[in-house]
Amino acid sequence: MAEVCAFCGAELKRFGIDTLVCANVTQTVCKDCWTKYRDASQTERCRDILKHSWAKEPEQIHAFLEEQEREAAREQARAEKLNRLISCCGQPMTPLGVSKFQLGQTSWIFGDWSNLLAGAMELAVFRCERCGQIKFMDPNIMKDRMKEP
Ligand SMILES: [Zn+2]
Ligand SMILES: [Zn+2]
Repeated sequence: MAEVCAFCGAELKRFGIDTLVCANVTQTVCKDCWTKYRDASQTERCRDILKHSWAKEPEQIHAFLEEQEREAAREQARAEKLNRLISCCGQPMTPLGVSKFQLGQTSWIFGDWSNLLAGAMELAVFRCERCGQIKFMDPNIMKDRMKEP
């Protein structure tokens, strides 16, 4: 039985068989499809290959796509939660990461407590892309809040 292109079903000639990997499965493809999908993302390849039934190990490709969707949903939920916790000008703030801030002895913010608080403090830093405001959050509290359902 002749090999066929996993994307379009075209019969492949013995020489000139190309391959592309979809969800860790190596698929045989024709020249045209190779050119078309060479730079496509894994998700795009997997979606298109499942439109027909020529793909090898379609179950594995299905599973891969489902996992991708679950991952996207998790990412979406995370972004929404973050937006509820910290936002500015009606839009989410950009997380700039967690930084250690050195609290000096002469810190006027903390007045007489400066001795108690002297040392480093970890702060999660966020920036509003619209108005330029920077907000700090306690990273430990952020972490706990993100875990809450
Ligand atoms: Zn093809
Ligand atoms: Zn703002």
